[in-house]
Amino acid sequence: MLAGLMQQVPLSLNLVRERVADLFPGKHVTTRFKTGIHRAIYADILDRAARLANFIHGNGVERGSRVATLAWNSHRHLELYLAVPCMGTVLHTINARMTASDVAMLLAHANDEMLFVDRSIWDVIGADINLPPCVRHLVVMEDEASEVAGSNFPAGVVCHDYEDAIGRCASVFAWPVLDENEAAGLCYTSGTTGEPKGVLYSHRSTTLHTLACLFADGIAMRERDVCMPAVPMFHANAWGFPYAALMAGADLALPCRQTDPASLVELIEAAQVTMATAVPTVWLGFLSHLKADASALGRVSSLKRLPVGGAAIGQSFIEEFAKLGIDVMHCWGMTEISPLGLTNSARSKLDAEELRTSRTAQGLPIPGCRLRIVDDNGMRCPSDGRSSGELQISSPWAAAAYFNRADTASDSFIVDEERTWLRTGDVATIDPNGFVRIVDRAKDLIKSGGEWISSQALELQLMNHPYIREAAVIGRPDPKWQERPVACVVLQCDTPEARVHFEEQFRPYLARFFSKWQIPEDVLFWNELPKGKTGKTDKIALRKNISADLPLGSANYAPPS
Ligand code: ADP
Repeated sequence: MLAGLMQQVPLSLNLVRERVADLFPGKHVTTRFKTGIHRAIYADILDRAARLANFIHGNGVERGSRVATLAWNSHRHLELYLAVPCMGTVLHTINARMTASDVAMLLAHANDEMLFVDRSIWDVIGADINLPPCVRHLVVMEDEASEVAGSNFPAGVVCHDYEDAIGRCASVFAWPVLDENEAAGLCYTSGTTGEPKGVLYSHRSTTLHTLACLFADGIAMRERDVCMPAVPMFHANAWGFPYAALMAGADLALPCRQTDPASLVELIEAAQVTMATAVPTVWLGFLSHLKADASALGRVSSLKRLPVGGAAIGQSFIEEFAKLGIDVMHCWGMTEISPLGLTNSARSKLDAEELRTSRTAQGLPIPGCRLRIVDDNGMRCPSDGRSSGELQISSPWAAAAYFNRADTASDSFIVDEERTWLRTGDVATIDPNGFVRIVDRAKDLIKSGGEWISSQALELQLMNHPYIREAAVIGRPDPKWQERPVACVVLQCDTPEARVHFEEQFRPYLARFFSKWQIPEDVLFWNELPKGKTGKTDKIALRKNISADLPLGSANYAPPS
């Protein structure tokens, strides 16, 4: 091999930090807290990130150790996004919608040493959480006025107030030179049962993903943009948008936890947002709000681009926004791929009809991603727009294994002579122009409003109920949330009284184990659940059955056995 003679600059997030310091110190970050708008410039964020790094380092958290956040989208979370990876520690962003026991389980699995938590989140879970012993420091960030400030902190952990803590530290930090393969971030894919699936991003993968967000046929983030990630910063790095905005030199607008239409309108107007992203559920509510209130439309006139992902979108979604002068771009991704893999923007090869129909496809692979679809026998399917198979992806920003979990290599990854392929669990077609369309999901999960619900976890608890003989939970299409869980059950002793009784009981029963939003909307009673060849419940048959205009929601509905 003849080695090239180019500079060995590590692909680390310090490239982002340095670029902001060199070129964009005066650009803006606007956070809309429930209590009011907070404005900062990037120079402030960098200054505070350096203080934060001194605080974390001063408390003995060493290179490679994990630092957790339980926080909404705010300037403080952005400071953590910069400080934690750039000092060589690993940012573990935890989903704030999880139950206290799931949060504790993830803190222990990741061996987190410090936990930064928004006050509003601590107020909800603080009383119930059993912090594992690895967590030595708890740092509270005052995101909203709280009536119970100062209460219920556990013993055995040192508690700090974020502003006090960083206020006492120096604003100069000796940022280390990092190896590009060092871990930078950690994100768990969902709070399902069994061993958690942690995706451990490296500096190299996150930096390459950040650059890809700037590609013209990627997200096309530019310096002139004001970017509003309304997807939570605990969801795969807010889909990479905060790092991309910093790298591009775009302004950022952060909505904290408020993604209701009125709050978003206020922030868009205050920061003059040009591009925004979130799951379709958020934008469907936003659209109705704009249609109902003409004055709101005038307030969001700066908004021009909407990259949307997390769930499929339809033609009318795209057309309704186009009427308002907002260009929707369909995207697809998953936590395991940092998360962006497909964007729907390259169009020059298409004729008018193809152009119209292709807009609802998830798009073409972003340069750097290679995709294939594979049938049940492991054979590659043709790109004819009809043959469907499991979507598999290979990319420098796709995972090759899960964190602290040896058993998943065979399930989720295929290693051939040339490369590793990640099995996405999505079923797709690819047309001759290369456009990928997701047509089904092989993984047994339900995605409601952008958040995963584990069918298996619900089934397990339902099976523990004394009335239940068989249980299956499936996703039912929903106009607002995209999908909602529905429980299909067979009772041990099936009488009309038992059905009524179970219908009354199942929600409070499940509420002992799950958050409210994870609990099935309805229960459907069956005489027997349909089975596949191997004797397992045939969920495809169940799904077909409940979406075929059957009398859903009726406790007395019993499909023929
Ligand atoms: P994210 O935070 O990007 O939603 P997750 O890992 O939680 O990442 O979810 C990824 C999964 O979401 C995909 O495997 C797919 O099932 C679904 N998904 C994401 N984007 C789309 C889309 N545009 N259309 C259909 N499904 C999508």
